Amino acid sequence: MRLANFKPSGGGGAQWRLGACVDKYIADLGVACGIYRQTVFGCDHEVLAAGIPASILDLLKLEGRGLSYARRVVEWLEAMVRGAKEAGHAPGQPLFRVASDCVLDAPLRPGKLITVARNYHEHVAEHGMTHTGKVPSASIKASSSLVGPYDDIVRPIFERQLDYETELAVVIGMRCKNVPQRDAYNVIAGYVVLSDIVARQVLKIEREAGNQFLGKMFDTFGPLGPWLVTKDEIEDPMNLAISTRVNGELRQQGGTKGMIWSIPQLVAYFSQATLEPGDIISTGTPAGVAAGRKPHEAPWYLVPGDVIESEVQGIGVLRNKIVDDPAGSSDWDWKG
Ligand code: MG
Repeated sequence: MRLANFKPSGGGGAQWRLGACVDKYIADLGVACGIYRQTVFGCDHEVLAAGIPASILDLLKLEGRGLSYARRVVEWLEAMVRGAKEAGHAPGQPLFRVASDCVLDAPLRPGKLITVARNYHEHVAEHGMTHTGKVPSASIKASSSLVGPYDDIVRPIFERQLDYETELAVVIGMRCKNVPQRDAYNVIAGYVVLSDIVARQVLKIEREAGNQFLGKMFDTFGPLGPWLVTKDEIEDPMNLAISTRVNGELRQQGGTKGMIWSIPQLVAYFSQATLEPGDIISTGTPAGVAAGRKPHEAPWYLVPGDVIESEVQGIGVLRNKIVDDPAGSSDWDWKG
């Protein structure tokens, strides 16, 4: 099942809607749930009592029951699309819209988005380091930096080393704590792609001050999506290809099997502090980032006009253009 946060193209100020990808359509799952509960019997009354979920986060907060409810509605929608095809017409609005006539936002904005750093040996090596840590290295990325899968990425006016990191991100499906590795996949709802954008110059200045903060957290520094793919669709998340292209040129090419800390290890480690439904653990990036390129005199840093495509096999592709910071940006003296 693929769940998206959508609205019709040209929808202006219309609210984002909870959608499910069905064939070439995005079905309005909010509308569908309302019709389903009025017309189809045998629903889980506890779920029905919880109301009609308005967002993917709402659905995840119902824990496993929410996704199984959504799955039943999606199966009903799929049968509807098959029936319409056989009858030779398109399924009607407001339930269905052709996906290409919709815009997508980030599937969700979690309570916490943990971004794991230095989790691929080749990526650690391209930073001139070796893996020695006894625990995963990570930071928190603010939900306010997340944008839709095809939205623009704004390069801060003072930043000239804008970098890309394509990552498989794990979405937690239930409140949990101290999850043993063997149970890790039980608490996962599904997967998304994160384009973990980094302002390397800012990050360097911040690290000199002993922290790491804005360099990974500016607005638009986290295209996410294109949709949430539920875990049943991904046979082995530890064996997915990851790639990044900039203006069509291949920059990163790796696979999740190259992770230092596996998904079960990451869930076990980070769940020592409570994880909530919708929380995201982004699992790090393989080699090929701009900062790691040798020789450095031929920079690969992103500049306005560049189009970056971030892909994880079986999940999807994010496509984002780099744009300049509009006038009126920060007056902080980064050179001072
Ligand atoms: Mg990263």
